[in-house]
Amino acid sequence: MPIDLHNLIDGRFAPALSGGWLEDVDPARDEVVARVPRSGAADVEAAVQAARAAGPGWAATPVAERASLLEEVARGIERRAEELARLESQDTGKPLSLARAMDVPRAVSNFRFFAGAARHQQAGFQDMDGKALNYMLRSPVGVCALITPWNLPLYLLSWKVAPALAMGNTVVAKPSELTPQTASALAEILTEAGLPPGVFNLVHGLGPEVGEPLVSHPLVSAVSFTGGTATGRRVAAAAAPAFKKLSLELGGKNPTLVFADADFEAAVTGAVRAAFTNQGQVCLCGSRLLVQREIYRPFVEAVVARVNAMRVGPPELEVDLGALSSRAHLEKVEQYVTLAQEEGGTVLCGGRRVTLPAPFDRGAFYAPTVIDGLSPSCRTSQEEIFGPVLTVHPFEDEEEALSIANGVRYGLSASVWTRDLSRAHRVAARLQTGMVWVNTWLLRDLRVPFGGMKESGVGREGGAWSLEFFSEARNVCVSL
Ligand code: NAD
Repeated sequence: MPIDLHNLIDGRFAPALSGGWLEDVDPARDEVVARVPRSGAADVEAAVQAARAAGPGWAATPVAERASLLEEVARGIERRAEELARLESQDTGKPLSLARAMDVPRAVSNFRFFAGAARHQQAGFQDMDGKALNYMLRSPVGVCALITPWNLPLYLLSWKVAPALAMGNTVVAKPSELTPQTASALAEILTEAGLPPGVFNLVHGLGPEVGEPLVSHPLVSAVSFTGGTATGRRVAAAAAPAFKKLSLELGGKNPTLVFADADFEAAVTGAVRAAFTNQGQVCLCGSRLLVQREIYRPFVEAVVARVNAMRVGPPELEVDLGALSSRAHLEKVEQYVTLAQEEGGTVLCGGRRVTLPAPFDRGAFYAPTVIDGLSPSCRTSQEEIFGPVLTVHPFEDEEEALSIANGVRYGLSASVWTRDLSRAHRVAARLQTGMVWVNTWLLRDLRVPFGGMKESGVGREGGAWSLEFFSEARNVCVSL
């Protein structure tokens, strides 16, 4: 029996003003699990007005109090960890074990980390040779619009909500309509933790019907968006006329570079993990594997052997891959694999749907896929597929590796596998990506800058960068 989710506006949980609903589908069972408010501009208006009205009170709340409240939210998430992991797995199709190990603990960390970061923040000052003193004030930006995608719903929402609230802003959040359940649960947790009405507002619905009016609303001062590059372009255009603060975390086509001197086994494990974690639906996934020619054949064979052994199945079981996020996304992935074959690629493994017995017989399961023989410049090698599809490419030397790695319009992340320390530093410096991992992948430290170059985004979040984005640094110059 589907449950009804609600918006949270000014401390009240309610359906959309229009009374419209959307369906939230469990992609592993192809079954409707919830009805989601199909909100519109009127709901956005109410939420923004509530956030605006709550702004001065929240901004005046002492930092220590705001931080304590965020810590209470972290404890609230911990108390409901198992339920949240199940909701996340049900909405996204991801393995429950992954939601337990990654999505939920990272949401807890985000609240705890930004509570601490806000507490320990220090402001700078500049003495002008005794003639004047410059000091810095940090003010909240105001009402922040937070728009998030379906791949890591709770994790990415908490990544924005925690610093926004820590810095004294009020928020209107718009989660993906495909994965709304943990956002609603988070709204409950924030409310139970004692957040005053209007400080955090949640408006469910579709991008064009909720996201767009939210981004262009004149009372919204900052927009933090994570999603696809094409959507990011529309968000940027809508935010530009009012010169809003804008942070865009967008798509990627991230390379994994394996040099012949790398620790072979560790690199195979790393490359496979980078390609297929969360069914290949992490913006940081290494979807292009570049391998030095001397070890190309044995390395690709070892990768294929590893991928063939991966278990695809019901998210509740001990599996490596669950379902893709939706049937529409499954079809998109399939189309890319067809395109790859038209472009001359050879499917080394996968390349097909996985059919499971009922109740999963209509689930969006797809076998992890490795494709060889594609030119680095063809569409399959250039466009973000955002699914369990890895293309493999040989290279001769560092120059060629860098030229292939950098030869895409994206620039989010990369991983480099080598035992040569000098090479690791050299290559890392020349990769055109916001993040580079050396001999690892997705090892995250919340203090470091996170964000993409080129068409992978604008701005940085993480640590001090998030505090910076969610505040206005101001200078006061006092003549002495
Ligand atoms: P998407 O761009 O389709 O949607 C993201 C969000 O934007 C959703 O909430 C959606 O409803 C909303 N939206 C859609 N149209 C809008 C509009 N016109 N105005 C305002 N909001 C609008 O992305 P998705 O399919 O949900 O997520 C997958 C994409 O997200 C991939 O490209 C992936 O690389 C990217 N992503 C990036 C990062 C990162 O940190 N760089 C992290 C995760 C995902």
